[in-house]
Amino acid sequence: MYSNSLIELDRAHLIHPVASYRSHEKHGVRVLASAKGATVTDASGKQLIDGFAGLWCVNAGYGHDSIVEAAARQMRELPYATAYFGLGSEPAIRLAGELADRTPGNLNHVYFTLGGSDAVDSTVRFIRYYWNARGRPERDQFISVEQGYHGSSTVGAGLTALPAFHAGFGLPFDWQHKIPSHYAYRNPVGDSPQAIIEASLAALKSKVKAIGPERVAAFYVEPIQGSGGVLVPPKGWLKAMREFCREHDILFVADEVITGFGRTGPLFACSEEGVVPDFMTTAKGLTSGYVPMGAVFMADHVYETIAEGAGAAAIGHGYTYSAHPVSAAVGLEVLKLYENGLLDNGIKAGKRLMQGLESLRNHPLVGDVRGRGMLAAIELVVDKANRTPLPASADPARRIFDRAWENGLVIRAFANGILGYAPPLCCTDAEIDAIVERTRLTLDETLEDPDVR
Ligand code: PMP
Repeated sequence: MYSNSLIELDRAHLIHPVASYRSHEKHGVRVLASAKGATVTDASGKQLIDGFAGLWCVNAGYGHDSIVEAAARQMRELPYATAYFGLGSEPAIRLAGELADRTPGNLNHVYFTLGGSDAVDSTVRFIRYYWNARGRPERDQFISVEQGYHGSSTVGAGLTALPAFHAGFGLPFDWQHKIPSHYAYRNPVGDSPQAIIEASLAALKSKVKAIGPERVAAFYVEPIQGSGGVLVPPKGWLKAMREFCREHDILFVADEVITGFGRTGPLFACSEEGVVPDFMTTAKGLTSGYVPMGAVFMADHVYETIAEGAGAAAIGHGYTYSAHPVSAAVGLEVLKLYENGLLDNGIKAGKRLMQGLESLRNHPLVGDVRGRGMLAAIELVVDKANRTPLPASADPARRIFDRAWENGLVIRAFANGILGYAPPLCCTDAEIDAIVERTRLTLDETLEDPDVR
């Protein structure tokens, strides 16, 4: 066991993100001490496979000396450089160039942030600026998708469509609107891809009509909804929504904070759907979680409109740590790793992961298995025919998370009985098989738990 004093110190002083403070105080912290590859070790020495890559971010896996060296080298040479006042640093400029070479279409302009939330926040600011620059200030209404997640900043949390991010916070704002998710397993129109695409198009159309077509600024999507429970839209959904936005002069924002950097296979999920958004947000895998960084990609035509609109005036958007040189040096090294085998391994491991999770489909608790690449979920139910969720009163997420932990596996257990998987892309076959087998064991044990059924 690790020291009680650490647990007490945590309880007394450290506020944890997205947690019930009271229940955290009761349960106490679990301290992670070290990690290598896909394995994390807690402070008691217990080793676990990290089936969630931290928070869907350590795509390269832990303990890469080359990443550590890149950061250390940059810290020694130039630990900080502002990008204000026309200044810059070599790694940030090079990273912008390397990324622009790889983004879909004309997403050639990069704005670096500290993470995903401020990347989303930045898009909202840029979009307002864009419409003002076009002489259309009335285009100030934003639409996103139920079950969507777009960060935890005040503005982004309003685009997010998860109740815990709104209740008590006075969100969403009245200019933030939602349409229903494509969520195939629980969709009133059924699970036919065509029906789902048509229903989403009809919902977007009627939302735009209700708001007033001349008022809509932008539509936000995740290529696969992550925090809402790994909800994979049918093939063609993304493209259909993008085309609708193009036809109606609505800016289309693809939030690739989770799906970017190999999580679903290619560097960006939009590419495999042949979609070029007006904005793309990324973070997480950009630096593989080793240091904080996010990036907003802006299409040429948006950049030109904003730049022309401002003329000689400063566009007042910036952070002290925009284009941080250490983060950028890490980003450059991580990009090399992706292209020197990591993306390929992720594609191979992702196939094995999906096959393995599919083999759990016949388990009495498994209602649905879904995912793409190294991003997957299984949705648990107590009654397959009626798709009845596990009883919330039993706090299934905590019980299943704890049980998986005991079995040497870190997963994401969503409150509604959905188990999320986003392992490091470096996983070996044996590690993928262990993720599946430890899940099977966890499910078997859960089946025996009278409170959860
Ligand atoms: N957008 C999406 C799609 C995300 O999944 C997340 C984080 N999970 C964010 C934005 C916010 O990113 P961050 O937590 O780095 O602020």
